[in-house]
Amino acid sequence: MPQQPPEGEKPLLTVRGLTKLFGSFKACDEIDLDIGHGEIHALLGENGAGKSTLVKMLFGILAPSAGTIGWEGLDRVIANPAAARRLGIGMVFQHFSLFEALTVAENIALSLDEKISISELSKKAAELSVAYGLPLDPNAHVADLSVGERQRIEIVRALLQNPKLIILDEPTSVLTPQEADKLFETLFKLKAEGRSVLYISHRLEEVQRICDRATVLRHGKVTGACDPRQETPASLARMMVGADVAGVEKVEPPADGAVQLQVSNLSVSPRTPFAMALKNVSMTVKAGEILAIAGVAGNGQSELFDALSGEYVVQNPDAIRLRGKSVGRLGINERRLLGAGFVPEERHGHAAIPAMSLSENLFLSRNASDRSAYLAGGKIGLIRHGLVQQAARRISEMMDVRKSGEDPAAGSLSGGNLQKFIVGRELDRQPSVLVVNQPTWGVDAGAASRIRQALVDLAKSGSAVVVISQDLDEIFEVATSIAAISEGKLSDAYPASTMTRQRIGILMGGVHGLTTAPEAAHAH
Ligand code: ADP
Ligand code: MG
Repeated sequence: MPQQPPEGEKPLLTVRGLTKLFGSFKACDEIDLDIGHGEIHALLGENGAGKSTLVKMLFGILAPSAGTIGWEGLDRVIANPAAARRLGIGMVFQHFSLFEALTVAENIALSLDEKISISELSKKAAELSVAYGLPLDPNAHVADLSVGERQRIEIVRALLQNPKLIILDEPTSVLTPQEADKLFETLFKLKAEGRSVLYISHRLEEVQRICDRATVLRHGKVTGACDPRQETPASLARMMVGADVAGVEKVEPPADGAVQLQVSNLSVSPRTPFAMALKNVSMTVKAGEILAIAGVAGNGQSELFDALSGEYVVQNPDAIRLRGKSVGRLGINERRLLGAGFVPEERHGHAAIPAMSLSENLFLSRNASDRSAYLAGGKIGLIRHGLVQQAARRISEMMDVRKSGEDPAAGSLSGGNLQKFIVGRELDRQPSVLVVNQPTWGVDAGAASRIRQALVDLAKSGSAVVVISQDLDEIFEVATSIAAISEGKLSDAYPASTMTRQRIGILMGGVHGLTTAPEAAHAH
Protein backbone atom coordinates (compact mmCIF):
# COMPACT_ATOMS: atom_id res chain seq x y z
CA MET A 1 0.00 0.00 0.00
CA PRO A 2 1.39 3.45 -0.82
CA GLN A 3 2.25 5.45 2.28
CA GLN A 4 1.71 9.11 3.08
CA PRO A 5 4.69 10.92 1.51
CA PRO A 6 7.19 12.86 3.59
CA GLU A 7 6.97 16.66 3.38
CA GLY A 8 8.37 18.17 0.21
CA GLU A 9 8.19 15.01 -1.87
CA LYS A 10 7.43 15.42 -5.57
CA PRO A 11 3.79 15.30 -6.68
CA LEU A 12 2.52 11.96 -7.90
CA LEU A 13 1.36 13.41 -11.22
CA THR A 14 2.75 16.47 -13.01
CA VAL A 15 1.02 17.49 -16.22
CA ARG A 16 2.58 20.30 -18.27
CA GLY A 17 1.23 21.98 -21.39
CA LEU A 18 -0.98 19.03 -22.20
CA THR A 19 -2.92 19.71 -25.40
CA LYS A 20 -5.38 17.70 -27.48
CA LEU A 21 -6.48 18.76 -30.93
CA PHE A 22 -9.46 17.29 -32.75
CA GLY A 23 -8.78 18.65 -36.23
CA SER A 24 -8.17 22.32 -35.53
CA PHE A 25 -10.34 22.30 -32.39
CA LYS A 26 -8.43 22.44 -29.08
CA ALA A 27 -10.35 20.27 -26.63
CA CYS A 28 -7.47 20.64 -24.14
CA ASP A 29 -5.25 23.69 -24.38
CA GLU A 30 -1.87 23.66 -22.57
CA ILE A 31 -3.14 22.18 -19.35
CA ASP A 32 -0.96 22.20 -16.22
CA LEU A 33 -2.03 20.02 -13.32
CA ASP A 34 -0.31 18.62 -10.20
CA ILE A 35 -1.75 15.88 -8.05
CA GLY A 36 -0.10 15.12 -4.71
CA HIS A 37 -0.05 11.83 -2.83
CA GLY A 38 -3.16 11.14 -0.80
CA GLU A 39 -5.24 14.01 -2.09
CA ILE A 40 -8.72 14.07 -3.56
CA HIS A 41 -8.38 16.46 -6.47
CA ALA A 42 -11.43 17.77 -8.28
CA LEU A 43 -11.49 18.46 -11.99
CA LEU A 44 -14.33 20.92 -12.39
CA GLY A 45 -15.85 22.36 -15.52
CA GLU A 46 -18.99 22.69 -17.53
CA ASN A 47 -20.06 20.21 -20.13
CA GLY A 48 -17.62 20.32 -23.01
CA ALA A 49 -14.82 21.95 -20.96
CA GLY A 50 -12.40 19.13 -21.82
CA LYS A 51 -12.44 17.10 -18.61
CA SER A 52 -13.02 13.67 -20.16
CA THR A 53 -10.51 14.39 -22.93
CA LEU A 54 -7.85 15.25 -20.33
CA VAL A 55 -8.30 12.08 -18.32
CA LYS A 56 -8.43 9.94 -21.46
CA MET A 57 -4.91 11.19 -22.18
CA LEU A 58 -3.84 10.32 -18.64
CA PHE A 59 -5.26 6.82 -19.05
CA GLY A 60 -3.70 6.19 -22.46
CA ILE A 61 -6.94 6.21 -24.46
CA LEU A 62 -6.09 9.37 -26.40
CA ALA A 63 -2.62 10.42 -27.50
CA PRO A 64 -1.72 14.02 -26.53
CA SER A 65 -1.04 16.46 -29.39
CA ALA A 66 1.54 18.26 -27.23
CA GLY A 67 2.76 18.48 -23.65
CA THR A 68 4.11 16.08 -21.05
CA ILE A 69 2.80 13.75 -18.36
CA GLY A 70 5.15 13.26 -15.42
CA TRP A 71 4.60 10.35 -13.05
CA GLU A 72 6.55 10.10 -9.78
CA GLY A 73 9.09 12.56 -11.17
CA LEU A 74 9.64 10.94 -14.61
CA ASP A 75 8.12 11.96 -17.94
CA ARG A 76 6.10 9.09 -19.36
CA VAL A 77 4.41 8.21 -22.60
CA ILE A 78 1.21 6.40 -21.71
CA ALA A 79 0.52 4.42 -24.85
CA ASN A 80 -2.61 2.54 -23.77
CA PRO A 81 -4.73 1.72 -20.70
CA ALA A 82 -2.60 -1.32 -19.88
CA ALA A 83 0.44 0.97 -19.64
CA ALA A 84 -1.53 3.35 -17.41
CA ARG A 85 -2.55 0.49 -15.15
CA ARG A 86 1.06 -0.73 -14.90
CA LEU A 87 2.09 2.72 -13.66
CA GLY A 88 -0.66 2.59 -11.04
CA ILE A 89 -3.45 4.58 -12.67
CA GLY A 90 -6.99 3.20 -12.43
CA MET A 91 -10.09 4.62 -14.05
CA VAL A 92 -13.84 4.44 -13.51
CA PHE A 93 -15.59 5.61 -16.66
CA GLN A 94 -18.65 7.78 -17.09
CA HIS A 95 -20.25 5.10 -19.25
CA PHE A 96 -19.70 1.61 -17.96
CA SER A 97 -18.22 -1.06 -20.17
CA LEU A 98 -19.84 -4.20 -18.79
CA PHE A 99 -21.38 -7.26 -20.42
CA GLU A 100 -24.90 -7.76 -19.12
CA ALA A 101 -25.00 -11.51 -19.68
CA LEU A 102 -21.83 -12.18 -17.70
CA THR A 103 -21.34 -12.28 -13.95
CA VAL A 104 -19.52 -9.65 -11.93
CA ALA A 105 -16.40 -11.83 -11.65
CA GLU A 106 -16.41 -12.68 -15.35
CA ASN A 107 -16.62 -9.01 -16.25
CA ILE A 108 -13.68 -8.22 -14.02
CA ALA A 109 -11.65 -11.12 -15.43
CA LEU A 110 -12.10 -9.79 -18.97
CA SER A 111 -10.45 -6.50 -18.09
CA LEU A 112 -7.42 -7.90 -16.27
CA ASP A 113 -4.08 -7.98 -18.01
CA GLU A 114 -2.81 -11.00 -16.04
CA LYS A 115 -4.72 -14.26 -16.10
CA ILE A 116 -6.11 -15.54 -12.83
CA SER A 117 -8.84 -18.12 -12.18
CA ILE A 118 -12.42 -16.97 -11.74
CA SER A 119 -12.61 -18.51 -8.26
CA GLU A 120 -9.47 -16.75 -7.10
CA LEU A 121 -10.71 -13.53 -8.65
CA SER A 122 -14.11 -13.85 -6.97
CA LYS A 123 -12.37 -14.25 -3.64
CA LYS A 124 -10.17 -11.18 -4.18
CA ALA A 125 -13.08 -9.09 -5.42
CA ALA A 126 -15.21 -10.10 -2.43
CA GLU A 127 -12.38 -9.12 -0.05
CA LEU A 128 -11.94 -5.74 -1.69
CA SER A 129 -15.64 -5.05 -1.71
CA VAL A 130 -15.79 -5.70 2.04
CA ALA A 131 -12.63 -3.71 2.78
CA TYR A 132 -13.85 -0.64 0.88
CA GLY A 133 -17.53 -0.74 1.73
CA LEU A 134 -18.62 -1.68 -1.79
CA PRO A 135 -21.14 -4.52 -1.32
CA LEU A 136 -21.03 -6.75 -4.39
CA ASP A 137 -21.79 -10.39 -5.15
CA PRO A 138 -19.13 -11.72 -7.59
CA ASN A 139 -21.56 -14.35 -8.88
CA ALA A 140 -24.42 -11.97 -9.66
CA HIS A 141 -25.31 -11.35 -13.30
CA VAL A 142 -24.71 -7.76 -14.35
CA ALA A 143 -28.15 -7.59 -15.99
CA ASP A 144 -29.74 -7.91 -12.53
CA LEU A 145 -27.73 -5.09 -10.95
CA SER A 146 -28.58 -1.45 -10.29
CA VAL A 147 -26.50 1.35 -11.74
CA GLY A 148 -24.89 1.93 -8.35
CA GLU A 149 -23.87 -1.74 -8.17
CA ARG A 150 -22.48 -1.61 -11.70
CA GLN A 151 -20.35 1.32 -10.73
CA ARG A 152 -19.01 -0.67 -7.78
CA ILE A 153 -17.82 -3.36 -10.21
CA GLU A 154 -15.83 -0.73 -12.07
CA ILE A 155 -14.34 0.55 -8.82
CA VAL A 156 -13.44 -2.93 -7.56
CA ARG A 157 -11.92 -3.74 -10.95
CA ALA A 158 -9.75 -0.62 -10.70
CA LEU A 159 -8.78 -1.43 -7.08
CA LEU A 160 -7.67 -4.93 -8.00
CA GLN A 161 -4.71 -3.32 -9.75
CA ASN A 162 -3.69 -1.61 -6.50
CA PRO A 163 -3.63 1.87 -8.10
CA LYS A 164 -1.85 4.93 -6.70
CA LEU A 165 -4.22 7.22 -8.57
CA ILE A 166 -7.84 6.44 -9.28
CA ILE A 167 -9.77 8.60 -11.74
CA LEU A 168 -13.56 8.84 -11.56
CA ASP A 169 -15.42 10.59 -14.40
CA GLU A 170 -18.69 12.14 -13.13
CA PRO A 171 -19.41 9.16 -10.87
CA THR A 172 -22.40 10.59 -9.01
CA SER A 173 -24.46 11.64 -12.01
CA VAL A 174 -26.05 8.17 -11.95
CA LEU A 175 -26.41 7.78 -8.17
CA THR A 176 -28.98 8.67 -5.54
CA PRO A 177 -27.69 11.00 -2.78
CA GLN A 178 -27.46 7.99 -0.45
CA GLU A 179 -25.43 5.96 -2.96
CA ALA A 180 -23.19 8.99 -3.50
CA ASP A 181 -22.55 9.24 0.26
CA LYS A 182 -21.42 5.60 0.25
CA LEU A 183 -19.08 6.31 -2.64
CA PHE A 184 -17.57 9.26 -0.75
CA GLU A 185 -16.82 6.99 2.22
CA THR A 186 -14.92 4.70 -0.14
CA LEU A 187 -12.96 7.66 -1.52
CA PHE A 188 -12.04 8.82 1.99
CA LYS A 189 -10.77 5.32 2.72
CA LEU A 190 -8.60 5.37 -0.41
CA LYS A 191 -7.22 8.74 0.61
CA ALA A 192 -6.46 7.54 4.14
CA GLU A 193 -4.30 4.84 2.56
CA GLY A 194 -2.29 7.49 0.77
CA ARG A 195 -3.84 6.90 -2.63
CA SER A 196 -4.84 9.87 -4.76
CA VAL A 197 -8.18 10.46 -6.42
CA LEU A 198 -8.93 12.60 -9.47
CA TYR A 199 -12.59 13.37 -9.20
CA ILE A 200 -14.44 14.84 -12.18
CA SER A 201 -17.65 16.66 -11.50
CA HIS A 202 -19.69 19.72 -12.31
CA ARG A 203 -21.46 19.58 -8.95
CA LEU A 204 -20.02 22.29 -6.76
CA GLU A 205 -21.62 21.13 -3.56
CA GLU A 206 -20.02 17.68 -3.60
CA VAL A 207 -16.64 19.00 -4.71
CA GLN A 208 -16.64 21.32 -1.69
CA ARG A 209 -17.58 18.41 0.52
CA ILE A 210 -14.97 15.86 -0.49
CA CYS A 211 -12.09 17.46 -2.40
CA ASP A 212 -8.85 18.92 -1.04
CA ARG A 213 -7.98 20.81 -4.20
CA ALA A 214 -9.73 21.71 -7.42
CA THR A 215 -8.57 22.53 -10.92
CA VAL A 216 -11.16 24.31 -13.01
CA LEU A 217 -11.34 23.98 -16.81
CA ARG A 218 -13.15 26.20 -19.26
CA HIS A 219 -12.96 25.82 -23.05
CA GLY A 220 -10.03 23.44 -22.64
CA LYS A 221 -7.96 25.83 -20.51
CA VAL A 222 -7.21 25.87 -16.80
CA THR A 223 -8.99 28.91 -15.38
CA GLY A 224 -8.10 28.35 -11.76
CA ALA A 225 -6.71 26.04 -9.12
CA CYS A 226 -7.99 26.41 -5.60
CA ASP A 227 -8.96 24.87 -2.30
CA PRO A 228 -12.69 24.42 -2.98
CA ARG A 229 -13.49 24.81 0.72
CA GLN A 230 -12.17 28.36 0.62
CA GLU A 231 -14.47 29.22 -2.29
CA THR A 232 -18.19 29.90 -2.51
CA PRO A 233 -20.47 28.18 -5.00
CA ALA A 234 -20.67 31.55 -6.78
CA SER A 235 -16.89 31.96 -7.06
CA LEU A 236 -16.48 28.39 -8.33
CA ALA A 237 -19.29 28.90 -10.84
CA ARG A 238 -17.57 32.04 -12.05
CA MET A 239 -14.37 30.09 -12.73
CA MET A 240 -16.38 27.47 -14.60
CA VAL A 241 -18.34 29.80 -16.88
CA GLY A 242 -16.19 32.94 -16.86
CA ALA A 243 -19.03 35.20 -15.78
CA ASP A 244 -21.45 35.55 -12.96
CA VAL A 245 -24.30 33.10 -13.33
CA ALA A 246 -27.64 34.68 -12.63
CA GLY A 247 -29.50 33.04 -9.79
CA VAL A 248 -33.05 31.95 -10.55
CA GLU A 249 -35.73 34.03 -8.90
CA LYS A 250 -38.19 31.59 -7.42
CA VAL A 251 -41.92 31.33 -7.86
CA GLU A 252 -44.17 31.25 -4.79
CA PRO A 253 -46.34 28.16 -4.52
CA PRO A 254 -49.85 29.02 -5.76
CA ALA A 255 -52.41 29.77 -3.06
CA ASP A 256 -55.09 27.90 -4.92
CA GLY A 257 -54.71 27.62 -8.66
CA ALA A 258 -57.12 25.72 -10.86
CA VAL A 259 -56.15 22.13 -11.61
CA GLN A 260 -54.59 22.08 -15.07
CA LEU A 261 -53.21 18.57 -15.27
CA GLN A 262 -54.63 15.58 -13.48
CA VAL A 263 -53.18 12.10 -13.82
CA SER A 264 -55.12 9.29 -12.15
CA ASN A 265 -53.88 5.74 -11.77
CA LEU A 266 -52.00 5.82 -15.04
CA SER A 267 -50.55 2.41 -15.83
CA VAL A 268 -48.64 1.58 -19.00
CA SER A 269 -47.07 -1.78 -19.76
CA PRO A 270 -43.52 -1.73 -21.12
CA ARG A 271 -43.32 -1.37 -24.91
CA THR A 272 -39.92 -3.01 -25.24
CA PRO A 273 -37.95 -5.39 -23.00
CA PHE A 274 -35.84 -2.41 -21.92
CA ALA A 275 -38.72 -0.06 -21.16
CA MET A 276 -40.13 0.53 -17.71
CA ALA A 277 -43.81 -0.02 -16.88
CA LEU A 278 -45.70 2.88 -15.33
CA LYS A 279 -47.57 1.70 -12.28
CA ASN A 280 -50.57 3.62 -10.98
CA VAL A 281 -49.08 7.04 -11.48
CA SER A 282 -51.18 9.87 -10.06
CA MET A 283 -50.47 13.58 -9.84
CA THR A 284 -52.25 16.90 -9.74
CA VAL A 285 -50.66 20.08 -11.07
CA LYS A 286 -52.30 23.45 -10.55
CA ALA A 287 -51.93 26.78 -12.30
CA GLY A 288 -48.84 28.55 -10.97
CA GLU A 289 -47.27 25.34 -9.76
CA ILE A 290 -44.00 23.70 -10.80
CA LEU A 291 -44.02 20.02 -9.92
CA ALA A 292 -40.51 18.59 -10.19
CA ILE A 293 -40.13 14.84 -10.57
CA ALA A 294 -36.77 13.58 -9.32
CA GLY A 295 -35.29 10.19 -10.08
CA VAL A 296 -32.24 8.25 -11.18
CA ALA A 297 -32.19 7.80 -14.98
CA GLY A 298 -34.10 4.83 -16.33
CA ASN A 299 -36.84 4.69 -13.71
CA GLY A 300 -39.69 5.48 -16.10
CA GLN A 301 -39.03 9.16 -16.82
CA SER A 302 -39.18 8.84 -20.60
CA GLU A 303 -42.22 6.53 -20.43
CA LEU A 304 -43.98 9.09 -18.23
CA PHE A 305 -43.09 11.88 -20.62
CA ASP A 306 -44.36 9.89 -23.61
CA ALA A 307 -47.67 9.16 -21.88
CA LEU A 308 -48.18 12.78 -20.77
CA SER A 309 -47.33 14.20 -24.18
CA GLY A 310 -49.41 11.74 -26.18
CA GLU A 311 -46.43 10.40 -28.09
CA TYR A 312 -47.67 7.19 -26.59
CA VAL A 313 -51.45 7.02 -26.36
CA VAL A 314 -52.89 5.22 -23.33
CA GLN A 315 -55.98 3.01 -23.12
CA ASN A 316 -57.95 4.87 -20.49
CA PRO A 317 -58.94 8.37 -21.69
CA ASP A 318 -59.60 9.54 -18.12
CA ALA A 319 -56.14 8.58 -16.86
CA ILE A 320 -54.87 11.96 -18.11
CA ARG A 321 -56.99 15.09 -17.91
CA LEU A 322 -55.80 18.35 -19.41
CA ARG A 323 -57.75 21.37 -18.16
CA GLY A 324 -60.70 19.15 -17.40
CA LYS A 325 -60.69 17.22 -20.70
CA SER A 326 -59.89 13.53 -20.86
CA VAL A 327 -56.96 13.22 -23.25
CA GLY A 328 -55.55 9.75 -22.64
CA ARG A 329 -56.36 8.69 -26.18
CA LEU A 330 -55.41 11.94 -27.90
CA GLY A 331 -52.13 12.37 -29.75
CA ILE A 332 -49.53 15.07 -29.22
CA ASN A 333 -50.98 17.55 -31.74
CA GLU A 334 -54.45 17.37 -30.24
CA ARG A 335 -53.01 17.90 -26.77
CA ARG A 336 -51.06 20.88 -28.05
CA LEU A 337 -54.27 22.36 -29.45
CA LEU A 338 -55.76 22.10 -25.96
CA GLY A 339 -52.99 24.36 -24.69
CA ALA A 340 -50.23 21.98 -23.64
CA GLY A 341 -46.55 22.21 -24.56
CA PHE A 342 -43.89 19.51 -24.40
CA VAL A 343 -40.09 19.49 -24.42
CA PRO A 344 -38.58 16.01 -24.75
CA GLU A 345 -35.17 15.00 -23.47
CA GLU A 346 -33.43 14.32 -26.78
CA ARG A 347 -32.46 17.54 -28.49
CA HIS A 348 -31.27 15.98 -31.73
CA GLY A 349 -33.73 13.96 -33.74
CA HIS A 350 -36.57 14.14 -31.26
CA ALA A 351 -37.02 17.81 -30.36
CA ALA A 352 -35.24 19.17 -33.42
CA ILE A 353 -33.99 17.96 -36.78
CA PRO A 354 -30.35 19.07 -36.98
CA ALA A 355 -30.24 19.53 -40.78
CA MET A 356 -33.29 21.81 -40.86
CA SER A 357 -33.20 25.52 -40.11
CA LEU A 358 -34.54 26.96 -36.86
CA SER A 359 -37.68 28.31 -38.55
CA GLU A 360 -38.35 24.95 -40.23
CA ASN A 361 -37.92 23.26 -36.88
CA LEU A 362 -40.31 25.73 -35.35
CA PHE A 363 -42.85 24.65 -37.89
CA LEU A 364 -42.60 21.03 -36.85
CA SER A 365 -44.11 21.72 -33.47
CA ARG A 366 -46.91 23.98 -34.67
CA ASN A 367 -50.21 22.32 -35.37
CA ALA A 368 -50.83 20.00 -38.28
CA SER A 369 -53.16 22.28 -40.29
CA ASP A 370 -50.56 25.05 -40.21
CA ARG A 371 -48.06 22.55 -41.42
CA SER A 372 -50.04 21.32 -44.40
CA ALA A 373 -50.78 24.89 -45.48
CA TYR A 374 -47.07 25.58 -45.36
CA LEU A 375 -46.17 22.46 -47.27
CA ALA A 376 -48.87 23.18 -49.85
CA GLY A 377 -46.90 26.32 -50.67
CA GLY A 378 -48.56 29.20 -52.53
CA LYS A 379 -49.61 32.45 -50.98
CA ILE A 380 -50.74 31.09 -47.62
CA GLY A 381 -47.53 29.15 -47.42
CA LEU A 382 -45.45 32.26 -48.03
CA ILE A 383 -47.28 34.31 -45.43
CA ARG A 384 -46.94 31.51 -42.96
CA HIS A 385 -43.29 31.18 -43.82
CA GLY A 386 -42.77 34.85 -42.99
CA LEU A 387 -44.64 34.48 -39.71
CA VAL A 388 -42.60 31.51 -38.72
CA GLN A 389 -39.35 33.32 -39.42
CA GLN A 390 -40.60 36.19 -37.34
CA ALA A 391 -41.44 33.81 -34.51
CA ALA A 392 -38.00 32.18 -34.76
CA ARG A 393 -36.44 35.63 -34.40
CA ARG A 394 -38.68 36.49 -31.42
CA ILE A 395 -37.82 33.23 -29.67
CA SER A 396 -34.09 33.69 -30.25
CA GLU A 397 -34.26 37.16 -28.73
CA MET A 398 -36.39 36.11 -25.77
CA MET A 399 -34.09 33.21 -24.86
CA ASP A 400 -30.80 34.86 -25.87
CA VAL A 401 -30.00 32.15 -28.43
CA ARG A 402 -26.45 32.67 -29.76
CA LYS A 403 -26.22 31.57 -33.39
CA SER A 404 -24.04 32.03 -36.43
CA GLY A 405 -26.64 33.55 -38.83
CA GLU A 406 -30.20 34.72 -39.15
CA ASP A 407 -31.79 31.27 -39.53
CA PRO A 408 -29.04 28.63 -39.35
CA ALA A 409 -29.45 24.84 -39.25
CA ALA A 410 -30.42 23.60 -35.79
CA GLY A 411 -27.43 21.27 -35.78
CA SER A 412 -24.99 24.20 -35.99
CA LEU A 413 -26.02 25.55 -32.58
CA SER A 414 -24.23 24.44 -29.42
CA GLY A 415 -26.26 22.18 -27.15
CA GLY A 416 -27.16 24.94 -24.72
CA ASN A 417 -28.28 27.35 -27.42
CA LEU A 418 -30.37 24.75 -29.25
CA GLN A 419 -32.02 23.80 -25.97
CA LYS A 420 -32.84 27.47 -25.26
CA PHE A 421 -34.47 27.63 -28.68
CA ILE A 422 -36.48 24.44 -28.15
CA VAL A 423 -37.75 25.56 -24.76
CA GLY A 424 -38.47 29.03 -26.15
CA ARG A 425 -40.43 27.48 -29.02
CA GLU A 426 -42.87 25.96 -26.53
CA LEU A 427 -42.99 29.07 -24.32
CA ASP A 428 -43.80 31.25 -27.33
CA ARG A 429 -47.16 29.50 -27.53
CA GLN A 430 -47.94 30.43 -23.90
CA PRO A 431 -48.95 26.87 -22.97
CA SER A 432 -51.20 26.53 -19.94
CA VAL A 433 -49.54 23.19 -19.20
CA LEU A 434 -45.86 22.54 -19.95
CA VAL A 435 -44.12 19.19 -19.47
CA VAL A 436 -40.32 19.13 -19.84
CA ASN A 437 -38.00 16.17 -19.52
CA GLN A 438 -34.43 16.98 -18.34
CA PRO A 439 -34.62 20.62 -19.49
CA THR A 440 -30.94 21.44 -18.96
CA TRP A 441 -29.20 18.09 -19.43
CA GLY A 442 -25.72 18.76 -20.75
CA VAL A 443 -26.13 22.50 -21.29
CA ASP A 444 -23.78 25.12 -19.86
CA ALA A 445 -24.57 26.91 -16.61
CA GLY A 446 -25.51 30.20 -18.26
CA ALA A 447 -28.04 28.56 -20.58
CA ALA A 448 -29.36 26.39 -17.74
CA SER A 449 -30.06 29.40 -15.59
CA ARG A 450 -31.84 31.15 -18.50
CA ILE A 451 -34.03 28.09 -19.13
CA ARG A 452 -34.89 27.63 -15.46
CA GLN A 453 -35.84 31.28 -15.12
CA ALA A 454 -38.11 30.93 -18.17
CA LEU A 455 -39.88 27.95 -16.55
CA VAL A 456 -40.37 29.92 -13.34
CA ASP A 457 -41.70 32.91 -15.29
CA LEU A 458 -44.16 30.68 -17.13
CA ALA A 459 -45.53 29.37 -13.83
CA LYS A 460 -45.72 32.93 -12.49
CA SER A 461 -47.87 33.83 -15.47
CA GLY A 462 -50.35 31.14 -14.39
CA SER A 463 -49.31 27.97 -16.22
CA ALA A 464 -48.87 24.54 -14.66
CA VAL A 465 -45.38 23.12 -15.19
CA VAL A 466 -44.00 19.60 -14.79
CA VAL A 467 -40.20 19.31 -14.76
CA ILE A 468 -38.76 15.80 -14.93
CA SER A 469 -35.12 16.07 -13.85
CA GLN A 470 -32.19 14.08 -12.52
CA ASP A 471 -30.54 17.24 -11.27
CA LEU A 472 -31.37 17.96 -7.64
CA ASP A 473 -29.88 21.45 -7.80
CA GLU A 474 -32.24 22.24 -10.65
CA ILE A 475 -35.17 20.78 -8.76
CA PHE A 476 -34.49 22.95 -5.72
CA GLU A 477 -34.08 26.01 -7.92
CA VAL A 478 -37.43 25.78 -9.68
CA ALA A 479 -39.89 23.50 -7.88
CA THR A 480 -42.87 24.48 -5.80
CA SER A 481 -43.55 20.80 -5.12
CA ILE A 482 -41.43 17.69 -5.49
CA ALA A 483 -42.11 14.01 -6.13
CA ALA A 484 -39.80 11.18 -7.22
CA ILE A 485 -40.15 8.36 -9.69
CA SER A 486 -38.68 4.94 -8.98
CA GLU A 487 -39.25 1.72 -10.93
CA GLY A 488 -42.15 3.32 -12.76
CA LYS A 489 -43.95 4.37 -9.57
CA LEU A 490 -44.45 8.00 -8.63
CA SER A 491 -44.25 9.02 -4.99
CA ASP A 492 -46.53 11.49 -3.27
CA ALA A 493 -45.67 15.13 -3.98
CA TYR A 494 -44.45 17.40 -1.17
CA PRO A 495 -44.09 21.17 -0.94
CA ALA A 496 -40.53 22.04 -2.02
CA SER A 497 -40.00 24.01 1.20
CA THR A 498 -40.33 20.82 3.25
CA MET A 499 -37.83 18.82 1.21
CA THR A 500 -34.10 18.16 1.62
CA ARG A 501 -31.67 16.15 -0.53
CA GLN A 502 -31.91 13.34 1.97
CA ARG A 503 -35.70 13.25 1.85
CA ILE A 504 -35.73 13.25 -1.93
CA GLY A 505 -33.13 10.50 -1.84
CA ILE A 506 -35.48 8.34 0.21
CA LEU A 507 -38.26 8.84 -2.36
CA MET A 508 -35.83 8.15 -5.21
CA GLY A 509 -34.99 4.88 -3.51
CA GLY A 510 -38.57 3.72 -3.98
CA VAL A 511 -40.29 4.72 -0.73
CA HIS A 512 -43.66 6.03 -1.86
CA GLY A 513 -44.48 8.45 0.94
CA LEU A 514 -42.46 10.02 3.75
CA THR A 515 -43.83 9.31 7.19
CA THR A 516 -42.06 12.17 8.93
CA ALA A 517 -43.24 14.80 6.45
CA PRO A 518 -45.77 17.40 7.52
CA GLU A 519 -48.36 16.88 4.80
CA ALA A 520 -48.26 15.63 1.25
CA ALA A 521 -48.86 18.46 -1.21
CA HIS A 522 -51.59 16.45 -2.84
CA ALA A 523 -53.10 13.38 -1.30
CA HIS A 524 -53.80 10.72 -3.88
P1 ADP B 1 -16.27 17.31 -20.78
O1 ADP B 1 -15.87 15.94 -20.34
O2 ADP B 1 -15.61 18.40 -19.98
O3 ADP B 1 -17.75 17.50 -20.82
P2 ADP B 1 -15.06 16.55 -23.30
O4 ADP B 1 -13.64 16.36 -22.94
O5 ADP B 1 -15.88 15.32 -23.46
O6 ADP B 1 -15.75 17.56 -22.28
O7 ADP B 1 -15.16 17.36 -24.67
C1 ADP B 1 -14.46 18.60 -24.85
C2 ADP B 1 -14.73 19.10 -26.24
O8 ADP B 1 -14.08 18.27 -27.18
C3 ADP B 1 -16.21 19.12 -26.62
O9 ADP B 1 -16.47 20.28 -27.36
C4 ADP B 1 -16.36 17.88 -27.46
O10 ADP B 1 -17.40 18.04 -28.40
C5 ADP B 1 -15.00 17.77 -28.12
N1 ADP B 1 -14.64 16.38 -28.40
C6 ADP B 1 -14.51 15.39 -27.48
N2 ADP B 1 -14.13 14.23 -28.07
C7 ADP B 1 -14.05 14.50 -29.40
C8 ADP B 1 -13.71 13.71 -30.55
N3 ADP B 1 -13.39 12.41 -30.44
N4 ADP B 1 -13.73 14.33 -31.76
C9 ADP B 1 -14.04 15.64 -31.87
N5 ADP B 1 -14.37 16.44 -30.83
C10 ADP B 1 -14.37 15.88 -29.61
MG1 MG C 1 -17.09 14.34 -19.75
